[in-house]
Formats: sequence, C-alpha cells, structure tokens
Amino acid sequence: MKDEKKTAREIIETYNGPAIRIMEVCGTHTHEIFRLGIRSLLPDNIKLISGPGCPVCVTPVNFIDEAVFLAQKRQVTICTFGDLVRVPGTVGSLAKARSEGARVEVVYSPMDAYLYAEKHKTEQVVFLSVGFETTTPASCLAVRKAKQNHLENFSLLTANKTMPQAYQTLKGSADAFLYPGHVHAVMGTTSCEELVREGISGVITGFTAKEIVTALAVIIIKHREGKAFFKNCYPRVVTAAGSKAAQQVMEEVMEPCDAEWRGLGTILQSGLKLRAAYETFDARIKYTMPKLVGHSNTACRCGEVLQGKCYPDGCILFGKTCTPEHPVGACMVSHEGACSAFYQYGGIH
Ligand code: SF4
Repeated sequence: MKDEKKTAREIIETYNGPAIRIMEVCGTHTHEIFRLGIRSLLPDNIKLISGPGCPVCVTPVNFIDEAVFLAQKRQVTICTFGDLVRVPGTVGSLAKARSEGARVEVVYSPMDAYLYAEKHKTEQVVFLSVGFETTTPASCLAVRKAKQNHLENFSLLTANKTMPQAYQTLKGSADAFLYPGHVHAVMGTTSCEELVREGISGVITGFTAKEIVTALAVIIIKHREGKAFFKNCYPRVVTAAGSKAAQQVMEEVMEPCDAEWRGLGTILQSGLKLRAAYETFDARIKYTMPKLVGHSNTACRCGEVLQGKCYPDGCILFGKTCTPEHPVGACMVSHEGACSAFYQYGGIH
C-alpha cells in the first residue's frame, strides 16, 4: 500500500527503511510518548532519543549552589517551582537547606513569587527563573510589574535559556528533531526554517496522541526524500510569527547571554539575563554573588542522557541508588526528565 493510503500509525508500524533517530527535544513529549504507549508502536529501525528540553534537567549544578548560597548566606526567601527543590547541588539540595532552616517557598508562577514578596515586605524574595521561551515571558512580566510598583524586596536568579542554539549544538545527534510546540507557539517558526538551511531537520508538534503520531509519520515520509526538512504539524497553536506580545516583553526585559547547560556545556548566546534597566532585580548583582563551581555525582550520566548519547538505564545508578524518591541527578527529579519517565513507565528503547 502507498503511504498516501495509509494512516499515520500504519506508516510508522510498516516502516522498513534505514534506521531513523528522532530526538524528543521536549521533556513533555518524552513523558507523553511513554504515557500514551507510542513507543510500543515503533519498529526497531525507528529510535526515539531524549534531548535537552527539560528546563530543570539542563539547569547546571552551580545554579542550585547559587540558590542554596542565597538562602543560607544571604538569608533570602527562595521562591521556586517544586521540581527544583529536590535537585541535588554540590553539597545539598534546597530541600536540605530548608530542613536546616532556610526559607524555601514553592510557587506555581513568577507572579505568585511577586505576590509573595508584596505580602512579605520584611523578607527579601528571590524567584528561581528557569525555563525556555515558554515560561520566560512570565518572569519578565513579574519583573516589569515589580519595577512599575517599586517592589524592592523582589529579584530573579536567572537561568533562562533559548532553544535554537541547543538545536545547532546537537546537530548530527539525530536525523530529525521533534520540536516543542509550546516553545514555538511563542517564538514562531523562523528559527526552524533557518535550521533547514543548516541541514537540520525537524517537525513541530503538539502533545496529543494524534499530533505526536502524525508528526512521527511526517518525519518518516520527509526523511525518505533525503534532504533537510521542516514541517509545522501543530498549526492550531503555532503560527509563523508566534506570539508578538510574549516576544516583546522578553525583548524589553531580557537580553541574550552565554549560558551553561547541564551536559552540553556553555552554549554561546543561548541564555537570557536581565537588561541593565532591570539590574536592581538581578539577584546575582543585588547580593554580590561569588563565582561558584558546581560538581555533580561523577557516576550520574544526565549529561549524556540530555544529548541522546545514552538511555537512562545505561546509567549504573538508575533504579538502584537513583530513584524518584532519592534522585541523584536532575533527570530523575523533574516530571519532564527522561530518567523519571523511564523509571515511571519502564524503558522501551
Ligand atoms: Fe543521573 Fe539518576 Fe539519570 Fe543516572 S539515573 S543519569 S544518576 S538522574
């Protein structure tokens, strides 16, 4: 039967061509692919590998060390998303610091942290601003509001990152990327089209079974044509231009900087930091942060997992000393982490 007459599922299940390696850039895709049982549809010649799209996972150890330093040495209140609390730092996590008396509050958005600061004027409040283009606009809005309202006890410790530079760094790791739909809902499709000119292929997709299976079938069909490609398979959410409002607030409040990614090292201009006009809200400046050098457990292979070089069960600690209850590395902590997904659903390569 020709591909035009097959369903997306049939295209995947009957594929018998050369091996195709597809990188799930986004941690949510990794988890949804497991949860929906999509891996069990794949023939052996289609391999899904994990990538660097879980923001907690790619945040380096020294960021955790900085947060612990601020909580313990500068007595600030740390406001953070819950996942970061359990990520091990060089000498301990924020959970450990909290058990020793540090103030650590779990919030669900940067605006929650802003509101906490507004209600607790006697405390200095630092929000741990991690995330990609999806969540960065919300951090920018919180800082802009703090400036407008002269809220002086609020600041950000930034580790915000942008995805296109990571795609370039990972060029050659996979035959095609499964691009994260929510990132491109904000940023549009221009960067993906530019990557095609550099020989990098990928498909933007959403998070339902139908959307993911369709995207995988499109990758198979386009890969057969033998040249780099890009396809937006999430047009109900992702437009070519993206969200201009979100892009504008990021542009106003933050500017590009070099950023360290766990496992990938420093990627030039792949981070975002507060612009000079907002530097009084930059916790590193406000609290004269010393340069900290982080060290993770030497047996942890998160760095390789995040580059698709190793499956989680290739780590000697997986499921033994490293479990979701007692995580050794960030990829086992985060709900979007590959090690957590493999542990939760049972790894099928
Ligand atoms: Fe790191 Fe644990 Fe994953 Fe091993 S199983 S790579 S220690 S998070």
